[in-house]
Amino acid sequence: MTVLLYITTMAVRKILTIPDPRLYEISEKVTEFGRPLRPLIRDMFDTMYAADGVGLAAIQIGVKKRILVLDLTHFGFVKGVFINPEVVEQSKEMQEGDEGCLSVPGLSVPLKRPKYVKVKYQDLNGSERIIEGEMLLARALLHEMDHLDGKVFVDLLEPAIKREVAEDIERIKQGLMPQKERIPEYRKEVSKARA
Ligand SMILES: [Zn+2]
Repeated sequence: MTVLLYITTMAVRKILTIPDPRLYEISEKVTEFGRPLRPLIRDMFDTMYAADGVGLAAIQIGVKKRILVLDLTHFGFVKGVFINPEVVEQSKEMQEGDEGCLSVPGLSVPLKRPKYVKVKYQDLNGSERIIEGEMLLARALLHEMDHLDGKVFVDLLEPAIKREVAEDIERIKQGLMPQKERIPEYRKEVSKARA
């Protein structure tokens, strides 16, 4: 007798949203690499894709490790896993642009970020690597690295913008959607790509 067993490897985890206190914690350095990390990384990608995201930090699914994943292939940038990332260089020149966060659903607001960033990190096997990026790649790296230090982008807004969206942020903290949903362009693009 043959028994067929179908196992689904897809695991979409719950994304923490503000004001979950875990989002304000500092994630711990990863010291063990390789195989034990694989299930977590897979879940991070699955969860990010299911939410139409382009980046996710482990703490967003409640895992306090300095790991982030990105998939910006739709925009001509990389897809990858970045462990223990650290900024080694960034430009003084800034970029303007809207930013959104899977942990702050429905809100997209302008936030200035350096235009260019150079980041050193470790790959899945623990090897040291360097990535340089401009524009969306720089923005995504910096946004996700903030998560590892317990920072959520809405806390970094310029005061005038912060006041403007204060009510929406309150609504999101109560588990509601903002009055008018605002999704960053890059996330709309990703949705279109998957449609
Ligand atoms: Zn985020």
